[in-house]
This record gives sequence, C-alpha cells and structure tokens, in this order.
Amino acid sequence: MTKKNLVRKLTYLFTAIVVILSFAFIPPKPDEGMYPLSDIRKLNLTEKGLKISVDEIYNPDGVSLVDALVRLGGCTGSFVSAEGLIITNHHCVFGSVQKVSTVENNYLENGFVAYTHEQEIPAEGLTARITVSYEDVSQEVLSAAESVDDISKRSKAIADKISEIVKREEAKDSTIKAEVSEMFVGEQYVLFRYKIINDIRLVYVPPRTIGEFGGESDNWVWPRHTGDFSFVRAYVAPDGSPAKYSEDNVPFKPKKFLKVNAKGIDEEDFVFILGYPGRTFKNMPARFVEYHYKYQLPYVQNLFSWLINLYTKRGENDPEFALNISSTIKGLANTEKNYRGKIQGIRNLDLINKKLEEEKKLLEFINSDPELKQKYGNIIDEIKNFYDDVFKSGRRLLVLNFLRNYVTYYRLADLFVDYKNELFKGESERKSIYKDLNKDKLIAEIETIYKNRRQELEARIFMKIYGDASEFDELKNIEPFATFKELANKEEYVNKIFSETFISDKDKFIGRLFDLDYTVDKSNDELIKIAADLFQLKNEEQKKQQLRDSKLNILLARFNEVKRIWLNKSFIPDANSTLRLTFGYVRGYSPADAIYYSPISSLKGMIEKSFDGDDYKIYEKIKELHSKKDFGKFIHPKLNDVPVAFIYNTDTSGGNSGSPIMDAYGRLVGVNFDRCFEATINDYAWSESYSRSIGVDIRFVLWVVKKIGEADFLLKEMNVNL
Ligand code: ASP
Repeated sequence: MTKKNLVRKLTYLFTAIVVILSFAFIPPKPDEGMYPLSDIRKLNLTEKGLKISVDEIYNPDGVSLVDALVRLGGCTGSFVSAEGLIITNHHCVFGSVQKVSTVENNYLENGFVAYTHEQEIPAEGLTARITVSYEDVSQEVLSAAESVDDISKRSKAIADKISEIVKREEAKDSTIKAEVSEMFVGEQYVLFRYKIINDIRLVYVPPRTIGEFGGESDNWVWPRHTGDFSFVRAYVAPDGSPAKYSEDNVPFKPKKFLKVNAKGIDEEDFVFILGYPGRTFKNMPARFVEYHYKYQLPYVQNLFSWLINLYTKRGENDPEFALNISSTIKGLANTEKNYRGKIQGIRNLDLINKKLEEEKKLLEFINSDPELKQKYGNIIDEIKNFYDDVFKSGRRLLVLNFLRNYVTYYRLADLFVDYKNELFKGESERKSIYKDLNKDKLIAEIETIYKNRRQELEARIFMKIYGDASEFDELKNIEPFATFKELANKEEYVNKIFSETFISDKDKFIGRLFDLDYTVDKSNDELIKIAADLFQLKNEEQKKQQLRDSKLNILLARFNEVKRIWLNKSFIPDANSTLRLTFGYVRGYSPADAIYYSPISSLKGMIEKSFDGDDYKIYEKIKELHSKKDFGKFIHPKLNDVPVAFIYNTDTSGGNSGSPIMDAYGRLVGVNFDRCFEATINDYAWSESYSRSIGVDIRFVLWVVKKIGEADFLLKEMNVNL
C-alpha cells in the first residue's frame, strides 16, 4: 500500500469513527405522548433509560407504581408514605387552604404545619381517586349507537349507554366509582374503576412566598423558583372503606408508596411521569384549531384579563375580599396566560396551515386508491362543512355560560326561567333539582348563590360580557343583543336593570319563584325578560350542539381511521383525565433566537429575583440560610447550591399538576407543576424543540420542609434520613 493510500484509508477510518461516535452521542429524543396504561408495554422504555421492569410501573395482577398515584381534584398526587401521606402542588390545595384561612389566621400567607394527626385540617371538597382497573367497552357503547336511526340521537344514545354501564359497575361493587372515558371519539371507550377517598387533610403547606414565589409573573415561565408543593393525608373509615370526614377515620394505607430519592436528578437524566392530564387536542382537525384560535382563545383571554383587573382593584383596600377572591383570581390568571401562550404558539407555528397542508396530503393519499376514495373521499369536505356550521354559532354558548358563571343575578334569572318552564312538565319529567320533593335543596342552593354574590360588581360584569357579545357577528343580529347594540347609553340602561330588578331581594326572588301566578310572561323585570330570550337561544344552541356531537362522533372516527391507514401507525389518544405515562430527559432548550435555557434553577436565582417586586417577595429565612450556605445534604454538587426547579422534555398538560417525577428506578425526584410558555401549545402540538415541563426539585422540597417548616417528622415518615 502506498503512503498516499494509507493516509486516505486512515482518513476514511477516522471519519467513520467520528460519524459513528457522534451518532452514539446524539442525545435520545422522546416521542410526543401521554401513553395510556394499555400502551406502556409497547414503548420499550428500557431502551429509553428505564432501569426497572415495566411490571413495576404497571401490573394489573400485582402491586406497582400506579397504585401510588391519585387524582386529586383536578390535579395529580402520589403517596409517599405507608400512612396515606400524599405529595402534590401548592396550587392544587390553594383553594382548600384559602377556605380555612382568615385575615387573622392566614395559612395561605404564612403556611401551615400539622405536627400531629390531630392538628391536620380537613381540605374541604378535595377528594382523591385511585385507578383500580380498566376495561375496553367500545363494542358495547358503539353498538348502542348503531341501533339509532336518527343521527341527532346518536350522542344521547352513547351517553345513555355509558351511564347504564356506570350504574351497572357501581352496583356490582359499591366501593368503586366507575367512569367510561372516550379515548378516540366514536371509536374507543374504556371503563375505569376508581377507589374514591373523601377525607383529605392538610399536613404541610409552605408559606405563600415559597409555594407561589414568582406569582403570576413567573407562571408558565422558565427559569422558575417556585416551591410549588404541599402535603396532604388521605383518611378512610376504620374498616378501610371510603368515608366522609370523621374523627374516627384512620390514615389510608396505600398498596404502594413512592420511595424518595433525596439525591435528585442531573441534566440529561431519564425521567418519567404518571398523572392525570386533563384535555388535549392533538388528534383534532385543522378547523377545530381554527375555531379555538379565532373564537374561544382570544375571547376567554380578554374576558379573564378584564375580570382579574376588576377583582384585583376591588380587593385593594379590602383584605377580606382580597383573600376570598384569591383562588378565583389565581384560576383566571392561570387560564388567561395559558391562552395567551397558545395564541402565540398557534401563530408562531403556523399550526392551522400546517394541519391544513397535512389534511391535503391525506386527501391525495385517499384519492390515490379507488377503494379508499369510495369510502373516505368526502371526509375532508365534510369536516369543512361541519366546522362552517360551528363557526356560525361561534361564541354563542360561551357567552351564555359566562353570563351565568360571572353574573349572579343573571344566573338567578336563568334559574327562574328554567324553573318556571319545568313547571309545565309533570313532576317525574322535571330536572331532579326542580322536583317538589327537592324544594328544600333548591332553596339551599339559591341561598348559597346569594351568599357568594358580589353585588357591587354585578352590573359592571354584565355590561362587559353582554356588551362584548352584542358586537360579535354571530350575536349582533339576534335579540336581545340587536336592540342593546343600538342603545345610545348602554351603561345607563344596564345600571337601571340592576338597580330595579327584584332579584336583588332574596326573599322576593324565592317568593316569586314559587308563586304560580307570577309567570315569566307577566314579568316586566328587564333582567327576567333578557334571561327568557337567552334561554330560548340556549335551548336552540344546545340542540344544535347535540346534533353536531352526533355527527362529529362519526366524522372523527372515520378521519382517524383513514389517518391511521395513511400513516401506517396507531396514534395516542388525546388526554381525557385518565391515567397516563410520559417520559423524557432533564434538558434545557432554546426558546428564541440566541437564547438558551439551562435546565436546573437554584436558590441563588431565587435571591436574585427577590428584588424584582411583589410577586418575588422572598421568605426572609431563605436569604439567611443561603448566606450561611446552610444547604444540608440537599445540594446539587455542580451548582454548589440547593436546586429549586428543573425542566424536562415530557408531554404534560393541565391536570398533570402535582404528578410525581420519577427517575430511572421509579423513585421520586420532583413534583411536576407547570410548563414553559412555549409549551402551552403542547395541547395542540408537542415538539422536542420547545416542549418543556417544569417541576420542583425534591431536594428543595426536603430542604424547605426541614429548614423552614422544621417538620423533620415528615422526612422521617418518608424514610429520608438526612
Ligand atoms: N400548571 C398546570 C396545571 O395547573 C400544569 C400544566 O398545565 O402543565 O395543571
């Protein structure tokens, strides 16, 4: 071999080695996906980095990590001790803490620690559910729909069948709650059996300046320094059955609780999450996204932002009002910013056009095969026509819902009209709450509505929702909006309605409600008249909606069916509040040109932010401990500091709040609580480039519990011996 040849060969060899090595170092990319339990086995998680067997995650015939998971209200939580201790997010118990707080005894601001079981406080209204088993019931559900000739009755037939299955299953086993979840519209229905725990008590809640550090400024944002965690405990009757709160109840003994890995994670570590993501729309067609983009998202975002402003101002010099409204504001703000992120994301990704382009390709594929053409040739057109009709209704139902939800007097007016209408029906056909035998219940409900009214804000909120609606194309020509739109002095008119309505007088309202001679037709109360007009509109729209649901049930089933043939693969059902697994790696990302975010934040960053205003008010002791470098064993060696939060490229959504983040061995290393701003679009489209979820690092949780809460007993209970 000549010298030249040898050099050439060596160069080739060297290049080949470099290429092979660089491939070997390409970091693994997870796929999008919130996998249902039935799909976990197909994932080959060992190849992805899991170090335990899949059976340890989910095993219907034995005990597995899934048994440590709970759906806690609209969030997720996990058992971390044999004594029913659950870890979740601070924001998931925020409402419960607010309810038991007063201006003088403000657990929300100061935090709460129960050193003994007796000191724990019931978290009113909070329940936990554990997934016990599941079973595919698609055939049974869909056969009920097949026997229906009238298309408008299809969705009702499905709903009726589902409630029949639920009743049957609950009758078979009175200890469970059954639920049938739609995995793929018109195709797959799964029966889930849940054990429900009704007695949940607050155990440890950090001060608000830790649990909500960064406030709304940092919500949906990375870098983050929020200690968004809390502990609650599940209680059951002494015989282990679910029971309402009682002093006799005992801590629930879960089949499984998570081990805590106090050493935490590092960059590029494999992690996975089990949880209950609420609702996503990845499998929906382009025009569905267009509906959200044009109608729902901007409307809700605008209204919520206005309401937040109004409530905040109202509470400025009224600490009691401010405390009582805090949970409502938090919820509104969470959605408002999320929708802002989604609007921006859909625009930046050009998502609607991308999806339309994809559907064009799908149609080309369909048309290339005579058999497919015969069966699915019209599907894209049918979807288009379907959404043309949806667009015609636009925000009508949304407006009516918001009027009911945010204007107490309108809600009462609507109830009034509804009740009077039901009186025409026989007792047995009436809605349950309007039956004579439930009269006391109805009165109690009305009393509660009155108790929660915010009289001084009623007219202003009505004016906003009603006024906006009268400008919407889909409403402006419909009564009563059409007349309102022409009024010269709208505000004066609204103020008059609200100052004159008899609804402001509770006794009069109840009296007239049950007075058979006082009919809606005879009433000259303007608010009742408006409610009566809108009641009719609501009925019409609901009927249309029911027909659409029925049509969609068939359309989407065919759409997904042919998509599967085209892509030659099955895809993952959109989230629907059932238990899912998602996996990924602790990894930074680039949110915009020339910016890179590293994946782990620390106390140093928290202190730096503490000079930035009210949202960043810091718990003073944190500064003190940090200056003394009192980190205990909760340090991240490379950062030489206590890690606070971290990001990872999993696929999560609302409802995944409080989900345990587990390492390759299934040990708890953090608690999921949010997503980065760019990842709010996850619900429509996931991508490794921008989808990052945010969790609080378990080391920060343990550090706060020990150093701030001085609640060493909790560490002991979780077998953390540091
Ligand atoms: N912050 C969210 C929630 O409240 C979690 C998420 O949407 O990622 O559920």
